Amino acid sequence: MRPKVIAGNWKMHHGPAATRKFFSDFSPRLSGVEPLILIFPPAISLAAAAESRGGRPEISLGIQNLHWEPKGAFTGEHSAGMALAAGARYALVGHSERRHVFGETDAQVERKVAAAIHEGLSPVVCVGETLDERREGRVEEVIVRQLDAALLRVSEDANNAVLVAYEPVWAIGTGETATVHDVADAHGILRRRLREVWGDDFAGEVAILYGGSVKPDNAAELLAVTDVDGVLVGGASLDPESFARIAEAG
Ligand code: PEP
Repeated sequence: MRPKVIAGNWKMHHGPAATRKFFSDFSPRLSGVEPLILIFPPAISLAAAAESRGGRPEISLGIQNLHWEPKGAFTGEHSAGMALAAGARYALVGHSERRHVFGETDAQVERKVAAAIHEGLSPVVCVGETLDERREGRVEEVIVRQLDAALLRVSEDANNAVLVAYEPVWAIGTGETATVHDVADAHGILRRRLREVWGDDFAGEVAILYGGSVKPDNAAELLAVTDVDGVLVGGASLDPESFARIAEAG
């Protein structure tokens, strides 16, 4: 049984002071909560998150983006090793905002995944189609292409956990949630592809999360879908009460 994963992507919200306030409200609400909780604060708030999460082993931290080089003249970037030293154990890679706002390519996503694994971070690889691609009937083609590219150098005996997040671009931050049918289809495609290319053991260990307008009111329904091992939550992860309610659904 794969444990459920409840992940929060804060995007460019919550600086260090707001991060401390979040954890002072959120951590005490977690009594008896079983799922693994991952929070991706802005990089500048990672240290504050690591200090203020209140010694809760079920809360892990991640970085929202990284550079594939370990160091160098890359103004504004952070390496996987730096993220690890600041308290991160996970890395979001290929989030749709990185791909569509900052022009990140499949090849760059692949290098970031390899760097994360090399440094000891678990990548959470984001894949998902745009609305046009869905209308053109290209969901499978797009998400399989993104998955194959991202995991190109990942071997079936990789030491770190690899997670995948299916995030249809049209459902992110729009209030539009994919139907349970759409989610089951996409997660089934991804699980099959993982089995085909990396084998049953590896595929069985990869948690596949759904992301796109997950809220306290729809989390339980989405988490009950076959092959949904967790959720990646944007907007609703910013508020301690709503994120704790989503965590309870896990
Ligand atoms: C996200 O940022 O990964 C996300 C899914 O955002 P939202 O929950 O706000 O749609």
